[in-house]
Amino acid sequence: MDQVALITGASRGIGRGIALELASEGFDLVVNYAGNEAAAAETAKHCVERAAVGGHTIRVELCQADVGQAADRERLVEFTRESLGRLDLLVNNAGITSIGRADLLDATEENWDALMAVNLKGPFFLSQVAARWMVDQAKADTGRRPKIINISSVSAHAVSTNRGDYCVAKAGLGMVTKLFAARLADHGINVYEVCPGVIASDMTAPVKEKYDQLIADGLTPIRRWGEPSDVGRAVAALARDAFPFTTGEVFNVDGGFHVRTL
Ligand code: NAP
Repeated sequence: MDQVALITGASRGIGRGIALELASEGFDLVVNYAGNEAAAAETAKHCVERAAVGGHTIRVELCQADVGQAADRERLVEFTRESLGRLDLLVNNAGITSIGRADLLDATEENWDALMAVNLKGPFFLSQVAARWMVDQAKADTGRRPKIINISSVSAHAVSTNRGDYCVAKAGLGMVTKLFAARLADHGINVYEVCPGVIASDMTAPVKEKYDQLIADGLTPIRRWGEPSDVGRAVAALARDAFPFTTGEVFNVDGGFHVRTL
């Protein structure tokens, strides 16, 4: 059965890791990006190669869109409809870190608004547009079980006082997951939150040395950086419908960071 996944922010990092694992499963993909078209094209190339290893021939389409902009979100879903014709999985992955990483007492409203647009408003309203289409699809074809997966963060529950806006957005994304899970369950659409810990990507590259030390000192029971593929494999398991009697669930992919120790 052909399945289509739309992954936001799939040109680099975790989004690319998710795209590669879904390619292995044979998903056709829409690779969304904000501005780095070359990186998105590289993701697409690797996905086609990865799919071929598993014996799949997949289609991968690129779509530039800023998830913080309403018109772009509409265009992204419309592009998916026109290019691949259906939508079985939306992965809300695109995100930015706190601009300037300012202390809580110096944080600005301007930076708050910019981050919230991408990290919280974007996933909420993109889910809304996608869900309307998924509901129509589910009515027409009851054999399908579309899904929405939100990529949040350990910052949803662990405070960083120099990234307050980021923490609030990720905590809010947890509620977005629960809201859509409750609203869409009757349509056979499960909604999940995947909660990564410290993952090697361009986002964390500037703080690599700090985290190298923290991990060596025991920040996480599993003493290593997470890789984009770690998150991708969790998303692929959910996409495979491996947990059909779950929705609104949080899957921690954090090396055990959330386990409190004494
Ligand atoms: P990254 O390496 O900085 O990549 C960010 C991706 O998002 C890129 O593909 C970028 O596209 C895209 N993007 C940025 N702003 C966008 C916008 N307005 N509209 C559409 N796409 C946009 O980040 P990452 O580390 O892979 O993080 C991915 C997600 O995981 C984020 O939601 C992040 O909060 C979350 N997360 C990351 C970590 C970590 O340790 N890395 C941990 C927990 C959660 P371009 O290439 O075009 O710029």
